[in-house]
Amino acid sequence: MPAPAAAAPAPGAPRLITIDLDDTLWPCAPAIQAAEAALIAWLAEQAPRLIERFDAAALRAHRQALMAARPEIAHDVTAVRLLSLRALLAEHRYDVALADAAMDHFRRHRNQVEPYADAAPVLARLRERHCLIAVTNGNAELAETPLGNAFHRALTAVEAGAAKPDPAIFRLAMDWAGVGPDATLHVGDDPVRDVHAARGLGIAAVWVNRTDQAWPEDLPPPLLEVRDLHGLVRWLDAGPGAADAL
Ligand SMILES: [Mg+2]
Repeated sequence: MPAPAAAAPAPGAPRLITIDLDDTLWPCAPAIQAAEAALIAWLAEQAPRLIERFDAAALRAHRQALMAARPEIAHDVTAVRLLSLRALLAEHRYDVALADAAMDHFRRHRNQVEPYADAAPVLARLRERHCLIAVTNGNAELAETPLGNAFHRALTAVEAGAAKPDPAIFRLAMDWAGVGPDATLHVGDDPVRDVHAARGLGIAAVWVNRTDQAWPEDLPPPLLEVRDLHGLVRWLDAGPGAADAL
């Protein structure tokens, strides 16, 4: 779908831009897969009886069962991983403290993301004119990634107490920046968790569609669709707020 820039002018130089991380600024799956592979290799050394019975898919199924049983922690993917590992280690007669070391191992690899080529230069440009806040459901630690200095603030679902599409993280970002929805723009790859969730609060939202996905038929179309962040900048520059922003 071509970007409908002419039909959808940019909001007047948004003071706050909130931006999703996974699959918006870097591909998520390779980092998770590498982190899980490293975790399993480490556990194969430290807890072989567990890994003989649980491969990556079985570990995932165990986490999903835990999330279903404990919905109050489902938004905290790190806590879910930790508690799942503790339970499995105990079940296989290992020291549960191994779970903390295992998570440190996972975390190091999870943070080794490879941002898309447009991310760093565009964020550096946007940061000069807007308050930039990362808003993520994931457990990458932004400060430990190559984009560690790209934002003014990073917020997670853990800090917000709920994962997107819950609006809590957007409210937290606006509170911190001291602005309302009309001065905010959200940018993300997920039609429901990013675009639809943000506009539910009256926040203009841009859909980053790097992999040519189809927009869900049951949702109203996005204000703007871009293939990468350069498309976002072009739209902002062309909008009614462009003169102020420049
Ligand atoms: Mg995402």
